[in-house]
Amino acid sequence: MAIVRVALPVATNQLFDYWSPSGLEIRTGSVVRVRLGQRRLLGIAVDRVEATDVAPERVAPIDEVVTALPRLPPDLCALAQFVSEYYQQPIGQCFALLLPPLGVSAGGREPLARRYRLTAGGQAALAGLVNTRSAALQQLQRLLRAPEGAAIGELRDCGAHAWRTFAVWRKRQFVEPVPEKAEIAPGNIVLNAEQRAAVIDAMAEMDRFAPSLLQGVTGSGKTEVYFDSVARVVAAGRQALLLVPEINLTPQLEHRIKSALPRVSLAVLHSGLSSSARLGRWLAAARGDVQLVVGTRLAVFAPMPRLGLIVVDVEHDVSFKQQDGVRYHARDVAVYRARLRDVPVILGSATPSLETYAHARRGRYRWLRLPQRAIAQSVLPSVRLVPNRASDSREGLGAALRQAIADRVARSEQTLLFINRRGFAPSLLCVACAWKAMCPRCAARLVVHRDTGALRCHHCGYAEGLPSACPACGNQDLLPLGFGTQRLERALAELYPTARVLRVDRDSTRRKGAFATMRRAIAAGEVDILVGTQMLAKGHDFPRLTLVGVLGADNALYSADFRATERLFALLEQVAGRAGRGKLAGEVVLQTDFPDHPLYAALVDHDYNRFAETLLAERELLDLPPFAHLALLSAEASKRETVTAFLERAVAHGRALLATSELRCEVYPPVPAGLARRAGLERGQVLVQSSERSALHEFLPRWRALLERMRQQRVRWTVDVDPLEFA
Ligand code: ADP
Ligand code: ZN
Ligand code: ZN
Repeated sequence: MAIVRVALPVATNQLFDYWSPSGLEIRTGSVVRVRLGQRRLLGIAVDRVEATDVAPERVAPIDEVVTALPRLPPDLCALAQFVSEYYQQPIGQCFALLLPPLGVSAGGREPLARRYRLTAGGQAALAGLVNTRSAALQQLQRLLRAPEGAAIGELRDCGAHAWRTFAVWRKRQFVEPVPEKAEIAPGNIVLNAEQRAAVIDAMAEMDRFAPSLLQGVTGSGKTEVYFDSVARVVAAGRQALLLVPEINLTPQLEHRIKSALPRVSLAVLHSGLSSSARLGRWLAAARGDVQLVVGTRLAVFAPMPRLGLIVVDVEHDVSFKQQDGVRYHARDVAVYRARLRDVPVILGSATPSLETYAHARRGRYRWLRLPQRAIAQSVLPSVRLVPNRASDSREGLGAALRQAIADRVARSEQTLLFINRRGFAPSLLCVACAWKAMCPRCAARLVVHRDTGALRCHHCGYAEGLPSACPACGNQDLLPLGFGTQRLERALAELYPTARVLRVDRDSTRRKGAFATMRRAIAAGEVDILVGTQMLAKGHDFPRLTLVGVLGADNALYSADFRATERLFALLEQVAGRAGRGKLAGEVVLQTDFPDHPLYAALVDHDYNRFAETLLAERELLDLPPFAHLALLSAEASKRETVTAFLERAVAHGRALLATSELRCEVYPPVPAGLARRAGLERGQVLVQSSERSALHEFLPRWRALLERMRQQRVRWTVDVDPLEFA
């Protein structure tokens, strides 16, 4: 009896055995429907075996093969397997990442290539059909047999019946898009010497795994390097995948791609799409109809039978890390996928993550650089450090910054004031008894939101009305401490009564389409001063924006997170990159108490590498990533004792395991999480560290098997490999 091992979307890390009724054609990668207990589930056939350990009477049959989806290609199945093993995530949930939403019909306009021709397989399959009597089908075949293929319009003209047949042939991969001469649209942009050199290096070997770091300052034209590389891959008849951070996937980017690469058929994939649109685009990618897939994190799993290139833009961006559910890092998965497929992968950034930077430095990645802005008149903004807590400060704004803003307002140029805190003030304090407004469900302060008259928790969403008196002592003198976007917005309106002030943060852009409307208003010059969080840091191009003011950056310097300064530099360089992108020169004015900090000194020189070298030396000394490899076991439960007891036993198991093996790992004692209580649950964690990746990866599955056997029902726990957050 043929047994099929099926991956099902359940939390236990196992495959399930089913027997395969005769007549069903099931192979690795087939999508199938099965029953598990009372549930009917969708799964993926992973393997065929001759025998199973399950008692014969308990093995159920596979109910159905889902023919609406093509079989998943072997490299994708291998990728899911890798994610499961590397990130220690349940195998079935990893395979579930490969599937599009089902139970809907594919909607939207399905992207099609411009020209198609028969594949070798198609020619063979259709050889027996030459005597078909339908004139339309004969015409269809004749058109597709031509070496240069047929344009989509000609195929449509063969009539409705032939068009439906053509859809079937696409599904069966009897036809494929014709490779296009897809160079960047003429009249648009001619690559400069550095860009050309970068493309040539990155794409030197198209059939080999060849990772490159493309390090280019903001505005250096990295995007054009991506486009030209994509064009080369498409011209070779292959598909390309471009991953971008969530916030960069704007209609502007799509527009830019369409005008730069008008012959390339494109599908944009992100989680905000309707299920039917997602399914339609997924199918178009899987059938090879689209030549370029652009998407966020999840698109790293898009099926692409002729994948020839992966690009990860802003590779250091934290949105590539999936933080809940199945935890994985899309950049690292992308690199692995490129390795499986033997294709080039380009990681682009102005401020690469230290992990990527270290690979480039050791020569494991090619290191391509664009040191200058692409537009001749455009230079990187000058950075000026000014004192933070000056006596002349008004509502957090020192005299230097106030003057700089006043100058811009007078010249009708735009200012962006950047503060990474939304709300009015990050806490509320009673002056009489030192009471502080705390979230009842989290170990965190409540944030004052003036616009809605509420105290809000930014961790769990809890909200209550602003109190008029101290709940502890009745005193009416309550003091909002610190600054958030709302407070600055109000201060600016008072300081510059003639200026038009706009706040851009998660609160002000909650309504659908609000952000797009704001962006148009800014571009149209209807705004003088922008106050915003990191939403505004990325990818936007406003030609009249010449001043970026930065407040509250120092907070990151005292953070417990060892990555805080690396991130701060990246964020500041990105924010600074908003200034002076047009013909007007830009300036950054940053308020700080630590003007001598190496981070700020390097920022003034726009010299990321100098700072990266300092950080690397520090990490090496402290045995931190990228020199050490980490995994984090996080647990939560309603009682602190439960969490502690669980983690202590986990540590004991781990240490016992290490005592009887040669593995060089260290298991640290349990500590409370950065946020010790969230949404009513106590949280704790255990760090595991090793300087050998292989030792860590041998240790983890064995440890995890022991943890699973503990069957602690009151504790929820997860393992996070290569954690980015310790919160
Ligand atoms: P990055 O992605 O590196 O921040 P972009 O690709 O957005 O930079 O390029 C910045 C600006 O420079 C864009 O307006 C782009 O059109 C322009 N640009 C890029 N390459 C060239 C070039 N070779 N010649 C002229 N302009 C260019
Ligand atoms: Zn009080
Ligand atoms: Zn809370």
